[in-house]
Amino acid sequence: MARKKFSRVIIKLSGAALAGNQDYGIDPQFISSIAEEIKGVSETGVEIAIVVGGGNIFRGIAGSAKGMDRGTADYMGMLATVMNSLALQDALEKLDIDTRVQTAIEMRQIAEPYIRRRAMRHLEKGRIVIFAAGTGNPFFSTDTTAALRAAEINADAILMAKNVDGVYDSDPVENPNAVKLKELDYIDLLNKGLGVMDSTAVSLCMDNKIPLIVFGMREMGNIKRVVLGEEIGTYVK
Ligand code: UDP
Repeated sequence: MARKKFSRVIIKLSGAALAGNQDYGIDPQFISSIAEEIKGVSETGVEIAIVVGGGNIFRGIAGSAKGMDRGTADYMGMLATVMNSLALQDALEKLDIDTRVQTAIEMRQIAEPYIRRRAMRHLEKGRIVIFAAGTGNPFFSTDTTAALRAAEINADAILMAKNVDGVYDSDPVENPNAVKLKELDYIDLLNKGLGVMDSTAVSLCMDNKIPLIVFGMREMGNIKRVVLGEEIGTYVK
């Protein structure tokens, strides 16, 4: 069955996607290529909001494993997502794409605060909106942020761009016989612990009937293919 074409999507980019081939930090060249790709997607007329992770800079759980207070470490993680969001905004604006960053923690000197109606208005005007600082709450993830914002702005789907090209029945790095799944129910993600998103994010998507498409980021043009309804990656519903 052909998938439907989307009109408003949330793209979730993990922090690792912005690090390119580096282990840490931001690779401006790599971000430029992501921005080019997003430009192509926006030319199809689809409304795009983006949630960016922060794992390339700081992850709360890693800080807390080394003895930091988890709440403090998580706030640092949220700040990392702001840096990534500004880098992505910079790359998009270099391509003349109108972009707004909205932060879940107020920092008015550098970005707008998150205001749902305003975000939707930006999207209607064809601007790309980047949601930064996660949900604004510790103990959550940017996957959960993507699920929450998708529900709030009535997005048709969450597009999850990953380093692997879909969801497998076991870890494809460890098991050469792992099989890629074309379609999957949310409940299977939870029951089988398939590590695509954390369980809070999965539950939110499931309860609000937001489809999720997991696909590989390495091949240029994949985001556009997904938006246009091409059957790549794994469709979770
Ligand atoms: N974070 C948080 N609350 C949120 C979103 C993110 O506390 O609502 C923190 C958390 O510490 C997380 C870090 O920000 O580890 C970076 O986000 P994430 O790990 O989701 O980034 P990704 O893995 O996508 O790069």
